[in-house]
Amino acid sequence: MAWFKKTRKPIESTADKPSRVPEGLWVKCPGCSQIIYNKDLDKNLQVCPKCSHHFRISAADRLRSLFDDGEWTEHFPNLTSNDPLKFTDTKPYRDRLRSTIEKTGMSDAVIVGTGRIDDLDAVVAAMEYSFIGGSMGVVVGEKITRAIEIALDRRQPIIIVSCSGGARMMEGALSLMQMAKVSAALSRLDRARLPFISVLTDPTTGGVTASFAMLGDLNIAEPKALIGFAGPRVIEQTIRQKLPEGFQRSEFLLEHGMLDLIVDRRDLKTTIARALRFMGAQSTSAVPVPVGASNTSEPPR
Ligand SMILES: [Zn+2]
Repeated sequence: MAWFKKTRKPIESTADKPSRVPEGLWVKCPGCSQIIYNKDLDKNLQVCPKCSHHFRISAADRLRSLFDDGEWTEHFPNLTSNDPLKFTDTKPYRDRLRSTIEKTGMSDAVIVGTGRIDDLDAVVAAMEYSFIGGSMGVVVGEKITRAIEIALDRRQPIIIVSCSGGARMMEGALSLMQMAKVSAALSRLDRARLPFISVLTDPTTGGVTASFAMLGDLNIAEPKALIGFAGPRVIEQTIRQKLPEGFQRSEFLLEHGMLDLIVDRRDLKTTIARALRFMGAQSTSAVPVPVGASNTSEPPR
């Protein structure tokens, strides 16, 4: 016989009870714990109006926030992975791909678009975190490489917005090879004297950080973004030391010389445009001088 017995029922959990507030109307900010109206957040590019916490945004919203009038031409929207390793973890990769494509309406974790940023022609590749953690498999690698090739053909600058957990493990070594492929394409871009601006958002980790995300002529991060190669827990276990406060966040990386700038999302477009003009880009509506060629021409006398 037990000495103690529960005579009364425990208090019922409220977690499963339906909320009377309609889903998605309000959101609690993880930065300041304030309740924010979702429409206010939308108007503010998903940045908390009270504490400037940056919520994660989709690739499409990212392109909308960068291109003039929110308009762009999408490239290679139909490239999909074909599960080359016939990989299965908790479920077959093929099923995971199919359900993610249905859920997100995208074919893989990146959108490549061309359009204008403050009247400057540019190529932008934006990664989508909700597509298997924004992981880089063969399709992401191929689309980013082709985006760089468009930039080369048209002599336009490229901006790559990273938001990724790293290489896609379900594609094994094939996904790791994308690091080399994209980096090689970027070195051709460099030889052609065309600018590449890397924008690192929360999170940018693993093989993406270890390849193109850190290769920008200008590496810009959003505030408080997690940027690193291995996760903090893995590092602590390996070196058996406690990591310093704010480790692997944008501010820490800027202080240690790994980044050039931290820019609030609401100022990102103007900052990119200013940087591109500094690097020699000119509005196409003015004079048709290609980007990067301006430093070879003689100044007007
Ligand atoms: Zn906040």
